[in-house]
Amino acid sequence: MTDPERPLTEFEVDELVRRCKDVCLNEYPNPDRVGCPSDEAIERLAHEDQDLLRTDELISHIVTCSPCFRKHAACREQLRSRNRLKMAALSTAAVLLLVFAVLTVRNLSMAPGQTGISKGGVPPRVPESKAQTESQPGHSRIA
Ligand SMILES: [Zn+2]
Repeated sequence: MTDPERPLTEFEVDELVRRCKDVCLNEYPNPDRVGCPSDEAIERLAHEDQDLLRTDELISHIVTCSPCFRKHAACREQLRSRNRLKMAALSTAAVLLLVFAVLTVRNLSMAPGQTGISKGGVPPRVPESKAQTESQPGHSRIA
């Protein structure tokens, strides 16, 4: 037998929450929507309106009315989805801003007329007189 004082594991807490959600979603059909608040009130609660979070009556109704609980859960999911989209947009904007800042600093630190392409890319030009004296592998000079 398990110890009733033993704290729940993370898995047990997740399972308990899942079962509670299942009960709220399915065990209180309320087909006539008796005592249901307005959709707006449910949406405001889902958006964590601080005044509504303090109203026990509304919260008590939502957890004992499956249609209202579903509406609330859908609003919360929509909010999470919007927040994920906002975070993705902000991340993209931050990366673009960083790239722009790096390019700006790089351009400002270069001397006028310098393109910056030769760094690691195209080898620097060798004056012609020096190039003629150097031997290139695979090319023998016939004098
Ligand atoms: Zn309801």
